[in-house]
Amino acid sequence: MISTFLQASSLEEALRQKAEYGSSSMFIAGGTEINRLRTSVHCSTVISLKKLGLNQIVKSGTSCTIGSCSTFQSLVESAEIPAYLKESARYCGSLQRRNMATIGGNVVLQRDDSYLMPTLVAAKARLLLANLDQDGALCEENIPIREYLGSKEHFVDSLLLAVILNKPTRFVSSLRFARTVQSPAAVTLALGADLSSGSAHDVRICAAVKGSGLFRLPEQEEAISNGTYEALDKELTFSIPSVQFVDDATGSQRYKRYMLGTGLAMLFRLCVESIGKGGAS
Ligand SMILES: Cc1cc2nc3c(=O)[nH]c(=O)nc-3n(C[C@H](O)[C@H](O)[C@H](O)COP(=O)(O)OP(=O)(O)OC[C@H]3O[C@@H](n4cnc5c(N)ncnc54)[C@H](O)[C@@H]3O)c2cc1C
Repeated sequence: MISTFLQASSLEEALRQKAEYGSSSMFIAGGTEINRLRTSVHCSTVISLKKLGLNQIVKSGTSCTIGSCSTFQSLVESAEIPAYLKESARYCGSLQRRNMATIGGNVVLQRDDSYLMPTLVAAKARLLLANLDQDGALCEENIPIREYLGSKEHFVDSLLLAVILNKPTRFVSSLRFARTVQSPAAVTLALGADLSSGSAHDVRICAAVKGSGLFRLPEQEEAISNGTYEALDKELTFSIPSVQFVDDATGSQRYKRYMLGTGLAMLFRLCVESIGKGGAS
């Protein structure tokens, strides 16, 4: 239960408060997960990021820097945000929640039904993180999102400042399979590729599968990059040793495996059709 609410007025103060209260504390952005019934995160102290000015979306040259406290709705409404990310933000079907939920909160949670993570990984987004060094001074780190994916523990005390998109011509597309727009997704999947050479290379495929987690599909990434992936319509059988599909309310193991394969075939087809057309999808 939350008993202490702290309002940070600078990045340094937020990080100092986090260091002081330790594992019993959390940053709070939109609060949609922290305050959710049966939330996945628990703490007694929250440190509000509201007054830190982290809600700006700034385009500079070919790079778009999205402040971590930008809400899903601000992504949908911004002229600077590529269509593929707006589409993922709309996977959150509730307007009230889109007005509160932030991109930063979504990235940090790395949920197995994540709205944005598959797309951000496919887009090869970068993350700007802040920590305090040994002298208490602010230090920033700019890392690829793939490094963040799955290494949650390493960044547990970091403050996420921004998500950076700096590949404006990259093809990126995603799919979400859920019973209704308001229901949790069984599978959310995204594929990204550089098509500038006339074929797909630098491929990233990321999936969120309910009950299994959030993961990349390296074998399929490589097969597409090497031009050996031909399954445009086929059902694919996934043998990813570390991934266990589970039966739950969103669907059976078989259904999830099937949707992952079919979804990948659909995204691959879109990717192939985009070759030679240029621009982000
Ligand atoms: C009914 C309901 C259904 C939902 N369904 C989904 C779903 O299907 N898919 C999905 O992905 N999400 C879902 N969510 C969760 C949530 O709405 C989103 O994930 C949202 O993007 C979380 O952002 P937030 O700002 O509200 O996070 P908060 O609740 O404020 O914080 C969530 C976590 O992120 C940390 N955090 C937040 N910002 C930062 C930062 N800048 N730096 C470091 N740590 C930070 C917090 O400490 C906390 O651990 C659902 C929520 C509700 C209430």
